[in-house]
Amino acid sequence: MIARTEAPAQRLPEWQRQAAEAVRDPDTLWALLDLPPEGLPAARAAAETFGLRVPHPYLARMRRGDPDDPLLRQVLPLGAELTPAPPGFTTDPVGDGPARAETGLLQKYHGRALLLASGACAVHCRYCFRRHYPYAEAGAGRWEAALEAIAADPSLEEVILSGGDPLSLADHRLAELVAAIEAIPHIRRLRLHTRQPVVLPARVDDNLLEWLGRTRLSTVVVWHLNHAREMDAEVAAAAGRLREAGATLLNQAVLLAGVNDSVEAQANLAAASFDAGILPYYLHTLDRVAGAAHFESGVDTAALMEGLRRRLPGYLVPRLVREEAGGAYKTPLE
Ligand SMILES: *Cc1c(COP(=O)(O)O)cnc(C)c1O
Ligand code: SF4
Repeated sequence: MIARTEAPAQRLPEWQRQAAEAVRDPDTLWALLDLPPEGLPAARAAAETFGLRVPHPYLARMRRGDPDDPLLRQVLPLGAELTPAPPGFTTDPVGDGPARAETGLLQKYHGRALLLASGACAVHCRYCFRRHYPYAEAGAGRWEAALEAIAADPSLEEVILSGGDPLSLADHRLAELVAAIEAIPHIRRLRLHTRQPVVLPARVDDNLLEWLGRTRLSTVVVWHLNHAREMDAEVAAAAGRLREAGATLLNQAVLLAGVNDSVEAQANLAAASFDAGILPYYLHTLDRVAGAAHFESGVDTAALMEGLRRRLPGYLVPRLVREEAGGAYKTPLE
């Protein structure tokens, strides 16, 4: 049971300042990136449904004037989001609705429980299945009952902090949460699923490394990089700091039309990730979420994986998977 402590009275950490300054309206995005004006009215309409959010450090890696830039595409509101969802595209494609306990704890797989630590994200990815997720109901941020459930189940060895993005929380809150988790003797591993180091590399600061470096738990940070150009010197430095703190770094990507659905793009992503000490883990097919049908790739995934195997060492080939409601593990697609 975690006692709420007051935030220390000090200046906001740099990453929180950057998160607060993220671009949130299409007009600003259009101006900063010199985008063709004809897309703007539809972007304004789509952003009403799921807000635009792009932090400046991520925006700085995009090409100006190019609406097809693979980084921009991931965050760009389009009129296509507002067309009626094709059959099979729903608001809860992975069945989290039924799996979700009131506590914010999702337990779908043996030995691992996933805690919705925060509903917030520093970036809004247009393909995200959580674009319709009722976070307030999910109890994100209220952990007492979740911790009790974890403590009561000795079959659990691993707690996954997810969201949203768990690193949206301030470090004093994460430190409290992790202290409460590590007080449960049967928990051995702590995993973070986060996109923040990609879009806000300043997030990996001394305050974060302090609690992460001191936990007794084996720690895994699962990144979410979708394209080689998301990696730059600052992102690589953030990865280096996490590794120095003892974390194992993995990446899960989503297969996205026009972003990374080619052997070339996936091979470059794997190589760029590994140069920064991040191993490819999963390549997810798109969750069929209403509003994201334009991201569904028509690529032949068998040929894609064959191409990657021909080109890369085995340890750089991600596992192609799909998340299915009711499965005992993520469904391999090969
Ligand atoms: C993806 C996921 C996990 C983790 O699965 P791994 O195969 O261990 O990466 C755990 N719980 C839930 C609810 C998930 O969606
Ligand atoms: S949960 Fe992940 S994929 Fe979804 S909007 Fe947040 S950062 Fe993007």
